[in-house]
Amino acid sequence: MAQNWTPESWKQDRFVAKHLPEYEDAAALAEAERALAGFPPLVFAGEARNLKAALGEVTAGKAFLVQGGDCAESFAEFHPDNIRDTFRVILQMAAVLTFASKLPVVKVGRMAGQFAKPRSSNTETQGDVTLPSYFGDNVNGIEFTPESRTNDPQRMLRAYSQAAATLNLLRAFAGGGYANLRQVHQWTLDFMGRSPWADQYKSIADRIGEALDFMEACGVDIETQPQLKTATFYTSHEALLLPYEQAMTRQDSLTGDWYDTSAHMLWIGDRTRFIDSAHVEFLRGVNNPIGVKCGPSLEPDALLEMLDILNPAREAGRITLISRFGAGKVEEGLPPLVRAIKREGHPVVWSCDPMHGNVIKAESGYKTRPFDRILSEVRGFFAVHRAEGTHAGGIHVEMTGQDVTECTGGAVAITDEGLADRYHTHCDPRLNAAQSLELAFLLAEMLNL
Ligand code: PEP
Ligand code: MN
Repeated sequence: MAQNWTPESWKQDRFVAKHLPEYEDAAALAEAERALAGFPPLVFAGEARNLKAALGEVTAGKAFLVQGGDCAESFAEFHPDNIRDTFRVILQMAAVLTFASKLPVVKVGRMAGQFAKPRSSNTETQGDVTLPSYFGDNVNGIEFTPESRTNDPQRMLRAYSQAAATLNLLRAFAGGGYANLRQVHQWTLDFMGRSPWADQYKSIADRIGEALDFMEACGVDIETQPQLKTATFYTSHEALLLPYEQAMTRQDSLTGDWYDTSAHMLWIGDRTRFIDSAHVEFLRGVNNPIGVKCGPSLEPDALLEMLDILNPAREAGRITLISRFGAGKVEEGLPPLVRAIKREGHPVVWSCDPMHGNVIKAESGYKTRPFDRILSEVRGFFAVHRAEGTHAGGIHVEMTGQDVTECTGGAVAITDEGLADRYHTHCDPRLNAAQSLELAFLLAEMLNL
């Protein structure tokens, strides 16, 4: 168990807490925290251990990780169809990548709790009005009014209940037969029927179909085989809103260890991963698998120092390093980190977030991410790991199962002007369903099919 750690040790003055909201009414905050602390955990510690074991396999080069979902979940977009469609696309991506890599794929949603957002500025100005920025639906509202932009601790309770309902549906889909591999493949064939790039994917899709036919001919009934009929699906979010995470942190009755039961996996964002960060202090004491975003400003020594704090026992599966350098920067920025980790023998999963280093402002004024740049960062990430002899273990993407127009490019070639059609994100631009699957097929090609 972590030394000198308690669920609230992050509050000590020696730690620097960035991107945390201030609440005017301390009594209202305490009341919300008390309520949350009495609610049932959303996940069970044993599930977090299972995910850690699965990520340990990724560390060893024996599995691959696909992590994806909204930049920010919202109360407004809370709908069963949205949950279903994002889940479905992640399964489709995983099926293509399982086939391509010949490795099991660990599936983790940025879902059921991904609400809080760090922002580059504390305020936003429209015309001559300046208000606090939007910090995610569990903190304040996106509408540009003083009421909506006021931090309200009651929002944490609504976020909890939305996370609980989302997780319930995900569990039902994953275990109830919706995730059956034949079905997942049929969705991919339907997608191919509409994709201008279908010719490029045809051979992979045909081979997956043939593999399923072959198994069935051999007498394997997909409907009755748990490995083919069900999926194991985990949840994750950025552990940014520490009052919420602390209230959800419980001691496991089986092992006595602490777990943050708001999700299976939690990650530390690029803006809160530094020595003496309150976020690092909080996550050091919970036993969940932990992600650390690694951007261009991260020095190898600082990374090693943080890993000694977060994973002193060097447990495999504990740490996933999620690099997010940007296209054109990853080839230079990533190798020093990879070499330091390799030299010190830290067991980590290396995952690629090709989204956060590739944001540009389109001429139309929208924040976007060109598909070509996303792809280029993934290529660079694979090239670095190939050159360093390390395992390119996974991808971390902001995506949705909806047909939104937020990232430019892709087979349907969303243009700058087209962004206005269906730009629905509450924060950063996401890949839509088709672009997500296209990325999986292009990745499959990179995996040397
Ligand atoms: C995010 O994942 O939404 C995010 C804010 O990323 P980063 O911390 O890498 O900027
Ligand atoms: Mn984001």
